[in-house]
Amino acid sequence: MTSTIDGGAPPLLDSEGARRAYELDRKHVFHSWSAQDLLDPMVIAGAQGSYVWDGEGNKYLDFSSQLVNTNIGHQHPAVVAAITEQAAKLCTIAPSYVNDARSEAARLIAERTPGELNRIFFTNGGADANEHAVRMARLHTGRQKVLSAYRSYHGGTQLAVNLTGDPRRWANDTASTGTVHFFPPYLYRTAFHSTTQEEESQRALEHLEQLIAYEGPATIAAIILESIPGTAGIYLPPPGYLEGVRELCTRFGIVMIADEVMSGFGRTGKWFAVEHFNVVPDLLTFAKGVNSGYVPMGGVAISPEIAATFGTRVYPGGLTYSGHPLAAAAAVATINAMDREGMVEHAAELGRSVIGPALAGFAQRHVSVGEARGTGVFWAIELVRDRETREPLAPYGSSSGEMNQLLAACKSRGLLPFANFNRIHVVPPCNIGTADTEAGLAILDEVLDIADGMV
Ligand code: PLP
Repeated sequence: MTSTIDGGAPPLLDSEGARRAYELDRKHVFHSWSAQDLLDPMVIAGAQGSYVWDGEGNKYLDFSSQLVNTNIGHQHPAVVAAITEQAAKLCTIAPSYVNDARSEAARLIAERTPGELNRIFFTNGGADANEHAVRMARLHTGRQKVLSAYRSYHGGTQLAVNLTGDPRRWANDTASTGTVHFFPPYLYRTAFHSTTQEEESQRALEHLEQLIAYEGPATIAAIILESIPGTAGIYLPPPGYLEGVRELCTRFGIVMIADEVMSGFGRTGKWFAVEHFNVVPDLLTFAKGVNSGYVPMGGVAISPEIAATFGTRVYPGGLTYSGHPLAAAAAVATINAMDREGMVEHAAELGRSVIGPALAGFAQRHVSVGEARGTGVFWAIELVRDRETREPLAPYGSSSGEMNQLLAACKSRGLLPFANFNRIHVVPPCNIGTADTEAGLAILDEVLDIADGMV
């Protein structure tokens, strides 16, 4: 597959426009997760397919998909046309009315989610999807506690950040919200002293079962976990783990919530990552890839049992922009384009025959690479100072000068990867061309030579 959108540069902001945008941003825009005065953000003057252009007209290969979001690349013509057409017809309508774009988006999503998750509650993004999933689980079970994993990310709103198991929770974890964290299986940095994936899976399940016993099964409403954790390191659950979590949830009447905000809509080479494990959760949350992030949208796909709880009883929650027509039209066009152009299969094949083998080669050749892992177009390279001790190149919870240098080296060579702590993530759009993928990987190979010199 060559990228769906090759072509030349799109219309770009000129250098004067870029300079003004930068100055206004620094004066008036308050950025996420940042110390405002230490920022020097990059101006994006335009984007097309798997590429973005900066304010000086330099072109970059977007190996980050903009926070693992643009699953069908930038400016897909079918999606741009669908948004434009919808805008001409009807820009907005309250969620209580029926809207054709919303109805069709719900059908397409329901048909792709596993099992019978056939009712869709729309939200504005991933964090509020998780907030609503937990609310549904609490009301459905009449219980309050929620278990979530360390090394996870579930969003930046109050409950979602409390569910999160990475350092972003620390500064926000001021109110007791009834969340309890458990250790997920992660063999490379095992909490269970395991030596094989099978052992790690079994011990992580025993740990979770003990936690359930000590917290009291009758107090636990839900277990939420990313089917394949993304921001926290793209570490794949070992054989039997998700199936084991499903069994524990069923046994103790706990609602299983699969967070597929990052892993959903083709990213892992299947529509949803749970399909790799033949597991059907009770609630599945999504956002990002549902419409490639062109207009904000998230949601919860709901099992018949939980939907039935709110058959004659009011669901006490809603959002003005729930199922927004522009977002819904973008979702319909995105899902149809993914089908038409075989993007999910393409993502799977790229992982199997291009990215996976290249990263395995990096792990052999580069002393700075501790582990490379992933599936589809969802991969991470973990950088270490020492392969024996596995000491990370940046400590958990912070960046390091070396990691910043490596990212700058990628950028100066025209590559924008996603990075977190000691990891570089390779997460391009699902429809990136094979040649573009190889070009990006060749840059990464060069940059890893620099990393080797640091350790
Ligand atoms: N859940 C997961 C797994 C995510 O990766 C993210 C965002 O990266 C979220 C939830 C939060 O989504 P949003 O930023 O749309 O609120």
